[in-house]
Amino acid sequence: MQQLRDAFGRQITYVRLAVTDRCNLRCTYCMPAEGAVIVERKELLTFKEMYRITRVLTELGVRKVRLTGGEPFVRKNLIDFLKMLSFNDLLEAINITTNGALIAAHISDLERLKVKTVNLSIDSLQPEKFAKITRRDVFDQVWETYELLAKSKLKLKLNVVIQSGVNTDEIADFVALTKHKEMDVRFIEEMPFNGVGVRKTTEVWDYKRILEEIRVVAPTLQTLPLETSSTSRNFKVEGARGTVGIIPAYTRTICNDCNRIRITSTGMLKNCLFDEGVFSIRDFLRKGASNEELKQLFVDLVAQKPQNGFVAEASRTKNKKVSESMSSIGG
Ligand code: SAM
Ligand code: SF4
Repeated sequence: MQQLRDAFGRQITYVRLAVTDRCNLRCTYCMPAEGAVIVERKELLTFKEMYRITRVLTELGVRKVRLTGGEPFVRKNLIDFLKMLSFNDLLEAINITTNGALIAAHISDLERLKVKTVNLSIDSLQPEKFAKITRRDVFDQVWETYELLAKSKLKLKLNVVIQSGVNTDEIADFVALTKHKEMDVRFIEEMPFNGVGVRKTTEVWDYKRILEEIRVVAPTLQTLPLETSSTSRNFKVEGARGTVGIIPAYTRTICNDCNRIRITSTGMLKNCLFDEGVFSIRDFLRKGASNEELKQLFVDLVAQKPQNGFVAEASRTKNKKVSESMSSIGG
């Protein structure tokens, strides 16, 4: 079988697919208050196109897909798309990253489909602060989702973007959640992908600083073995049921065994989060390409995957500085 392998010997087995660029929230670290620039609906990939892209990728060895956005559940009839994707016998797992505000009613559907893991983004456990961060008053809905997911058979991961001067005082509370629940809390380094590109920060909260703080609040922290291609470095507090992870999204120390590519909601292939998008798969499809041509295209494009996020960032030509919103990239 043809596989997706880059010049550094890394095999691609995971695709992140942004199903929309729209979002119901306005997180301050992700987009400006007025929202990110969104494209016309016809510019977005259709479900059929997304199904076809995923199918071809699985024929090239991809085994997992992560649906993201924008907010995936803002896309109308997402459950129908999940049903379509679940038919793909080569696909082992569908994971979803969501802000959780719209999904409580859908959790039992997700359990019946190929969905294995839900990453729930929640940056504060304090309703008022949560509203300030997201610029929307939806903490209760998100918390309901959290409780339903914690009881469901889906694997639950919490995504917490660490924002200097905003939620660093809650690291202890998030770590405490892992004591009684089998879930992973992952602290993410904030990146400048926010639709503006600049944020006032008082202190740098990188991987090292986050880990120092976790060790202060949880002195019995144990380091877990490194997992190949994991986006996080993982730890466990002695006796806890869940784990704690740190995602070095900005310091980029996880690129060596990267197994991922991204497809944005408009169908741009991104070999790396930090590149500008290397090719419009959507336009290629809409010009009438066959599945065999699409396969060859993926093989050729992945061969050019940059060694790491720094090389990818340096290769940018249009917008030298990263500033696009994560909602348009598909985080
Ligand atoms: N709307 C969904 C959500 O929030 O989970 C999915 C899309 S969102 C872009 C995916 C992930 O990217 C979320 O966990 C979010 O917190 C994270 N994210 C967004 N902007 C970020 C930034 N500037 N730096 C680090 N992580 C960011
Ligand atoms: Fe929306 Fe997710 Fe961005 Fe927040 S992080 S604005 S929920 S896309």
